[in-house]
Amino acid sequence: LSIISLIQNETPIMPWNELDAFWMPFTSNREFKSAPRMLTSAQGMHFTSDDGRKILDGTAGLWCVNAGHGREEIAKAAYDQLKELDFASAFQMGHPRPFQLAERLIQHTPEGLDHVFFTNSGSESVETALKIAVAYHRLNGNGSKTKFIGREKGYHGTNLGGISVGGLGSNRKDFNCLIPGVDHLQHTWIKGSEFTKGQPAKGAELADELESLIALHSADNIAAVIVEPVVGAGGVFIPPQGYLERLREITRQHDILLIFDEVITGFGRIGKPFAANRFQVTPDLLTTAKGLTNGAIPMGAVFAHNKIHQAFMNGPESSIELFHGYTYSGHPVASAVALATLDIYQHEGLFEQALALEHCWQEGLHSLSDLKAVKDIRNIGLIGAVELHPGDQPGQRGKQVFLDCYWQQNTLVRGIGDTLALSPPLIINEQQIHQLVEALRTAISKIPT
Ligand code: PMP
Repeated sequence: LSIISLIQNETPIMPWNELDAFWMPFTSNREFKSAPRMLTSAQGMHFTSDDGRKILDGTAGLWCVNAGHGREEIAKAAYDQLKELDFASAFQMGHPRPFQLAERLIQHTPEGLDHVFFTNSGSESVETALKIAVAYHRLNGNGSKTKFIGREKGYHGTNLGGISVGGLGSNRKDFNCLIPGVDHLQHTWIKGSEFTKGQPAKGAELADELESLIALHSADNIAAVIVEPVVGAGGVFIPPQGYLERLREITRQHDILLIFDEVITGFGRIGKPFAANRFQVTPDLLTTAKGLTNGAIPMGAVFAHNKIHQAFMNGPESSIELFHGYTYSGHPVASAVALATLDIYQHEGLFEQALALEHCWQEGLHSLSDLKAVKDIRNIGLIGAVELHPGDQPGQRGKQVFLDCYWQQNTLVRGIGDTLALSPPLIINEQQIHQLVEALRTAISKIPT
């Protein structure tokens, strides 16, 4: 006991000279370790930093803590489940939680998306969906349908399939081993749509480019089109009115599956359970993760349309229908946490609350349009982006604002190049929206123009 108390008294929470072993993901490790930014606890809308500051979370962690931090109900569900059944494989064996969870989840999806395959992350959900698409066509006697169409600026995780269909050069450039047979649509942002509130009115016709790609590759060779309904990590881009509808029309005409990657748009982020509900466009496969467990435990899911599931179930009785899965697919603790998360969303009406706050959020963000450094502002639901005019070095201004917000304004925002991406927990209130906007205003105002 005395040794422990000695260590606790004499050693800082994290000795700064011992940060080398953890190779941090998606982080400039050398820069970070010269001035570490360390979050040590979190409650509600706030993190606490190691130097004791309360930091307003403008990012819901990483688009995932939709119900806010430190939820007792979630902690209890994890603890209770760990005591009752810590692990049981879902390979050839069953345990109740993932069955209960799948039943609950399909109450929220658009009609037809009635089957759930569990994964551990967004990246795994994407790989799973791509594989299901190819296997589905093969089962239907269309074995040549193996190509994918992604889209510029798309982010679909970091596994090989995901970076191949993804449209971000930075994620691909160091890895010259992408999956073959992938092409990309152009992104959906068009000049003239700056400062649009919600969905841009123009741009639906950009979806027609898919017809040209089909003419080039032939529908006989294309398995699926994958897009994020609202682009997140690529810089936050809202689909033009009619665009997703048009993609749906064309894919349906050519027996090409449509995959919506809803890893960030799932679970109320844009005021409905999924973007598919909000835009009233039903994909064939829908990938998600993050808000599924409020970020508390890794878990992802792929929703499959009945027609896809049925194709697999029509095979010989004793065979494994889909030769795919993960040790932790449908993990009991993750499933219990997801069930507790869904309870919170439902009892607190958080999806509806996000929708109700959308106007305040939109007006708050767009009030920054008077700042000279601001090039564009985009928003839908409780997602937002403030794009800055680039300086001499692209990304530098975004980073400056991110750092200023963190150190000076006690606010966490995300810098994606020169775009500040915002996605607060859905429990945010109007006063906190105002606070977030003011923090951005102060930080952006420091940019020399
Ligand atoms: N797809 C989208 C749209 C995402 O935003 C992300 C993560 N930001 C992923 C996939 C990958 O999810 P994960 O990091 O959980 O693998």
